[in-house]
Amino acid sequence: MPTHVLILGAGFGGLELAARLSESGDPSLRVTLVEQSDAFVFGFAKFDVLFGRRTFDQVKCPYRDVSLAGVQFRQERVTSVEPRTRRVVTDRAAYRPDVLVVALGATYEPAATPGFAEDGFEFYSLPGADRLRRRLASFAGGEIIVAILRVPFKCPPAPYESALLLHEYLVERGLRDASSIEVITPMDSPIPVSPAASAAIVAGLAEHGIRYTPRHRVREIDPVAHVAHLKSETRRYDLFIGIPAHRVPTVVEESGLTAGGTDGWIAVDRRTLATPYPNVYAIGDCADAPSPAPACLPRPRREPSPTTSSRPSTAQGRLPRTTAEARATSSSGAAASAGWTPTSSPARHRPRRSSDRRSSSPPRKPSSPRAASADGSPPRVTSCRIIASELRDLGRGGLT
Ligand SMILES: Cc1cc2nc3c(=O)[nH]c(=O)nc-3n(C[C@H](O)[C@H](O)[C@H](O)COP(=O)(O)OP(=O)(O)OC[C@H]3O[C@@H](n4cnc5c(N)ncnc54)[C@H](O)[C@@H]3O)c2cc1C
Repeated sequence: MPTHVLILGAGFGGLELAARLSESGDPSLRVTLVEQSDAFVFGFAKFDVLFGRRTFDQVKCPYRDVSLAGVQFRQERVTSVEPRTRRVVTDRAAYRPDVLVVALGATYEPAATPGFAEDGFEFYSLPGADRLRRRLASFAGGEIIVAILRVPFKCPPAPYESALLLHEYLVERGLRDASSIEVITPMDSPIPVSPAASAAIVAGLAEHGIRYTPRHRVREIDPVAHVAHLKSETRRYDLFIGIPAHRVPTVVEESGLTAGGTDGWIAVDRRTLATPYPNVYAIGDCADAPSPAPACLPRPRREPSPTTSSRPSTAQGRLPRTTAEARATSSSGAAASAGWTPTSSPARHRPRRSSDRRSSSPPRKPSSPRAASADGSPPRVTSCRIIASELRDLGRGGLT
């Protein structure tokens, strides 16, 4: 009987793991990938939607175009996870795999900041980016606040990138002189693990006349008076853009997997990404793990040194190696017109033949849950851990 690996979530983490298992060519594995959406979307593609460069449909990479030998894709919504028994129920089926990998990412909690749901805008979700795009179209100048509402959050550079892009947008529309932009963050610096990148960001903001207010948190906003309340200060605004509070999806919370994790994230062995439950793993943003944390979800505690902020998965040449590479792939138009190409290696997209398997490294059977990763190392997620090195480009104008 093949070992059945069930991966929940086909974002960066789930998709990368599924691709690695597929590429292992191991006939003793049967992989099922469950995902509620019909398409993958790169996080940074939300900027394209926000600034009207591409439409919703153009940034979607449909899963139907992804072919991974040995991986069955099921478009289903996970409704319950029972980690003790590894029983998973979706809106269409029930599973009891040998190995369960939870890669359900992070979701947002706008209501955590009073007034934000009523009068705030965000661009971290596709609908949010589209809504903000429409609001910007009618913006006639005024005071803009970009506020990080809670830590941790995905992609630390994104708020600063948004402020710089807003600057550019307002300049193009002849509204910059009639506007102010301020970034408010509870953090000490933009990228705590990279002082150099942080310094470059802070300098870039200053250079573009964007006010930067660290160590301050917007606690609530008054949707009627259009005033943001900080601890002992207030700010009037015409447009409030928040990076909403993040949390695990409800189905993860209800599973009990977050018990023992920091601040509501899934507790994992930081080396193997194993949860306390046998043969149950958590990867990516939902996991309370160190390697994605420096860039994806900056955590207030237990931050590793910059040297641990590697990008092991990307180093394998699977998904784009850098954000710039991914952006180039993604925005080349090829993804939209000829189907998604999430890797620099075309080999992934052609049907696998048995000869392909022979030519690759010898198949291995997972001897333990740790071997859920094809190369025997702990499963790892490709995501914005690349940021620290990516930001080296910042000083050279990489963000614009
Ligand atoms: C604006 C923005 C810009 C970003 N820019 C970058 C960047 O430049 N570079 C970079 O590396 N990273 C960037 N990121 C961060 C990156 O997108 C995330 O860190 C990464 O997607 C996390 O991967 P993941 O697999 O943990 O979660 P996700 O990619 O979020 O995947 C989770 C998946 O689980 C699915 N799911 C959730 N609940 C259910 C359910 N109940 N049933 C079934 N499926 C479910 C979701 O639909 C989703 O597909 C950016 C993020 C944002 C918001």
